[in-house]
Amino acid sequence: MNVLVTGGAGYIGSHACQRLLRSGHTVVALDNLVRGHREPMKLLGADDPSVPLTFVEGSVGDGGLVAGVLDEHAIDTVMHFAALAYVGESVTDPVRYYRENVRAGVALVDACVASPRVERFVFSSSCATYGDPPEGMVPVPETCPQTPTSPYGRTKLMMEHVLKDVAHACGLEGRAFRVAMLRYFNVAGSDRTGVLGEDHTPETHLIPVAIQAALGKRDHVSIFGTDYPTDDGTCVRDYVHVEDLIDAHVCALERVDPGVHAYNVGIGRGYSVREVLESVKRVSGVDIEIREGPRRAGDAVALYADPSRIHAELGWRASITGLDEIVRTAWAWMSANPDGYRGG
Ligand code: UDP
Repeated sequence: MNVLVTGGAGYIGSHACQRLLRSGHTVVALDNLVRGHREPMKLLGADDPSVPLTFVEGSVGDGGLVAGVLDEHAIDTVMHFAALAYVGESVTDPVRYYRENVRAGVALVDACVASPRVERFVFSSSCATYGDPPEGMVPVPETCPQTPTSPYGRTKLMMEHVLKDVAHACGLEGRAFRVAMLRYFNVAGSDRTGVLGEDHTPETHLIPVAIQAALGKRDHVSIFGTDYPTDDGTCVRDYVHVEDLIDAHVCALERVDPGVHAYNVGIGRGYSVREVLESVKRVSGVDIEIREGPRRAGDAVALYADPSRIHAELGWRASITGLDEIVRTAWAWMSANPDGYRGG
């Protein structure tokens, strides 16, 4: 397949490029480098003419640019990762989130529909579209009502609506447009060969923040809320290894039927913030300082997946379900690259 990977220079997108190249696909990575990095593109061989990876710097919201890329590279498949993805930031700067995630996303879909070759579209959606599930709906099935608690979650839900309507309209025209909307739970860890990693500025995600503390790059980790109605008072999340997540995308490319399909991608069990911090302490061997702080706006209480639909329909199942194993891969890359990609 000829695959356009939007956000290909970012954390998850770069892992997708790596996996697609390994599977023999031709890849074009499009990234505006606002949150992504040039280094993973180089590491994956974008400067080497013998590697079928092209890096294009630009925005998915630039319809002319995207149309040109789709045409020039005969793209038949799009994986859309490019987005802003901080829940807290989306609360304080919602317009930026609607502009980058929704307006630019619609421009991308527009260009894809206008290009007759594009047949498959995999969208990075989020468990944040569920908000706080009602009683009895955790683990969360795809049929759970979608009532996001943050602007970030709303931008992802809006894009799901856009894709549903577009896939429906394509079906009316007799066009086979296959859309998989993958609702990610918390993605963590990194490439087990140690080439790619997670490098965000600012870093806000729990596992890399805790590892930064273990590396002495922060003096402590704050727990955002210890009075939640969970066993230990802290929020519960489902942490899925990034390579398992990408495998779910490959399953979706290979197996998804025409029309639009939503799938949860998670391991199917939850870990609390305190359990994650204990895991980072065990893996790193460092007794990081933990401070109990107030709740963070926009956070849901407990979110972990019921992944039975993706098991049954696409045959995907997480291969790593232990937190320590996930944290070990993150620790390996971050301790080898304490200054991220910029550290060389
Ligand atoms: N969290 C925390 N301290 C931090 C970062 C995150 O207590 O420094 C909590 C956060 O409130 C949430 C969980 O860890 O309950 C996972 O947060 P993260 O930002 O990693 O992912 P999210 O669930 O927001 O996508």
